[in-house]
Amino acid sequence: MDGEVTSFVMTAMGQAAARGHPAEACGLLLGQVLGEGRRITHFIETRNVHPSPQTHFEIDPAALIAAHKAAREGAAAVLGYFHSHPTGEASPSVTDSAQSAGDGAIWAIAGGADIAFWRDDPQGFVRCNYTVI
Ligand SMILES: [Zn+2]
Repeated sequence: MDGEVTSFVMTAMGQAAARGHPAEACGLLLGQVLGEGRRITHFIETRNVHPSPQTHFEIDPAALIAAHKAAREGAAAVLGYFHSHPTGEASPSVTDSAQSAGDGAIWAIAGGADIAFWRDDPQGFVRCNYTVI
């Protein structure tokens, strides 16, 4: 499944990753569902509330609840999650695979100079192509 992401969101994720260093930055990806595809139009940077933020992330649950509530009231849908790997690659780590829900959410992962998109499928993460618009 492919999708689209705005250049504004790409820039915002890159800035969040740089600001968070050496801890993992994280946030929420919002936008529209377009059939099988997704269009990511908004990024909300959130606090990383994990007790070991240099190697793990946990999105501030209050921010997650607020975004889901807003979506129910007509705001952009919650499509997935962003986090950065301060010293790793833009691919899911063993920790990420253990944390995944297999719910089809999009995971954007920043690592090195890249930001890559993955879909959290029941069988594991699948790499997705996102066109920057
Ligand atoms: Zn990770």
